[in-house]
Amino acid sequence: MYRTVITCAITGAEVTRKDNPNLPVTPEEIADSAFAAHQAGAAILHLHVREEDGSPTQDLNIFKKTIELVRRKCDMVIEVTTGGAVGMTLEERMQPLQLEPEMASLDCGTMNFGDDCIINTLPMMREAARAMQRLNIRPTLECFDLSHIDGAGQLIKEGLVRPPFHYGFVLNVPGGVRYDAVTLEFFRRRIPADSYWTAMGIGGKANLMAIYSAISLGGFMRVGFEDNVYYSRGVLAESNAQLVERAVRIAGECGCQIASSDDVRQMLQLRS
Ligand code: ZN
Repeated sequence: MYRTVITCAITGAEVTRKDNPNLPVTPEEIADSAFAAHQAGAAILHLHVREEDGSPTQDLNIFKKTIELVRRKCDMVIEVTTGGAVGMTLEERMQPLQLEPEMASLDCGTMNFGDDCIINTLPMMREAARAMQRLNIRPTLECFDLSHIDGAGQLIKEGLVRPPFHYGFVLNVPGGVRYDAVTLEFFRRRIPADSYWTAMGIGGKANLMAIYSAISLGGFMRVGFEDNVYYSRGVLAESNAQLVERAVRIAGECGCQIASSDDVRQMLQLRS
């Protein structure tokens, strides 16, 4: 039976306290927010961390501390970012893989990102995929554009990513493909059959719409401050848990069950 999975992207790299004063920043705040999101129904934590001044970092020790704090509270699946933030080297971005999380994001192509750009050449993608394969970490193949699906396909063809596949369709990043239901459905048709996928709509409206689309197309959903800081138009979200609670409620109203972290471990065949 279809169960949807809720990922909570607690903090991200770009959002600041100016955007939403409720943004968790320190390891303690991130762990508390992740735990509350998990209690509300999130099975996966998508994890970025910050320096004390709030700037994004891939520092191994800050990741380690944050993961330890989360682990003291709950056993939710942890997916670390290897996207990091604009301008970071691949070596920097890959640092948290050393902690051998169950999952990690793997950006599948280069693109404009607002006024900047994010660089993911095929050799860089291969290096990240190889590291994840070696450490038995399940990648989320993040696709911000249609060509990224073909980029992911290239990694699969080369045997660098093995099934079950999990895609993340990141829609509505400024510079990437815009969100609409038709585009999401088209992306879904372009990935291998039996793949799992998560819809990630960036911005308040797209995030909410992507939740409904994910449910109607049999996908997973992602919420959290990384993707959206609003609860409704002009109204800031109070917490990540509040956004998870709404996703749970919508899924419930559609008669859709929510997967637990252990369900995710089984579906995505995670190393436990
Ligand atoms: Zn992220």
